[in-house]
Amino acid sequence: MKIGLMNNPALSLYEQIEAFGKAGYDFLDLTIEGPALTFDPQKVRDLLDQYGLSVVGHTDPCLPWAYPVETVRKACFKELERCAKLFSAIGARIMNIHPCYASPPRMKQTLIDQNVAALRPLSAMARDLGLVLVLENFKRPFDLVSTFKICIQEAPELQVHLDIGHTNMGGDTTEDFCRHLGHDIAHVHLSDNRATDDHHMPIGVGNVDWPRAISALKKTGYDGTITLEVFCGTNDILFSYLEISRRFVTELWTMKQSGTGGSHGTHQSHGERPSWKHGQENG
Ligand SMILES: [Zn+2]
Repeated sequence: MKIGLMNNPALSLYEQIEAFGKAGYDFLDLTIEGPALTFDPQKVRDLLDQYGLSVVGHTDPCLPWAYPVETVRKACFKELERCAKLFSAIGARIMNIHPCYASPPRMKQTLIDQNVAALRPLSAMARDLGLVLVLENFKRPFDLVSTFKICIQEAPELQVHLDIGHTNMGGDTTEDFCRHLGHDIAHVHLSDNRATDDHHMPIGVGNVDWPRAISALKKTGYDGTITLEVFCGTNDILFSYLEISRRFVTELWTMKQSGTGGSHGTHQSHGERPSWKHGQENG
């Protein structure tokens, strides 16, 4: 298992790679988001090599890449192809994409079909550049295993990007995703929240049941990239939050399965304080 970090697209990419490398992380989750993140691929590659970091690609969550107007879709395809070429040039093998929710209101019923129609050529384009396109779970209907099953069936090159913070906001649980799509998971995001929004808090601060979630992920045999998607406005504090999160995840990862709750514990509904946290209240 590798633990990595995502760059803030508003800050210097080079300085962030150095900071991630010096802090001993394993990979960069490189997000390319608007209005413009420009970088020299060779310089990024050299920096990644210098710090022994690998890289995965993350794309702009706001692109309307499945909107059913051909000129819009084509423009998005072009932008995603540009990103894919950059990811490929710096040695990435994974490229993420977020579900597209942009749709004319009268066509909302066919949102999954619209996504599937665009995912087919996008995943093939990624494959041709040596990348696996992974779709990140988020809000309805892309918080359901059944939706992902359709997408994977219709776009066979596509794999799953599991965001465990997102599964805490409703829809199918982390265990559902792991149980039914375990072999298709190719990348993972972790962040905590209180189930009411995508807060991107440090691991252990919100109400995600982490022992249960990590146990479910481990049971799939997953041993790939895990991004700590923790956000904070102040860099010094951010790295403290990240360090706590990394330690927590590493401890859970190395824990024996029998001590982590697993699939036989009681279900914790959204908004409740998880039972495993009770011992931490006073210390
Ligand atoms: Zn995410």
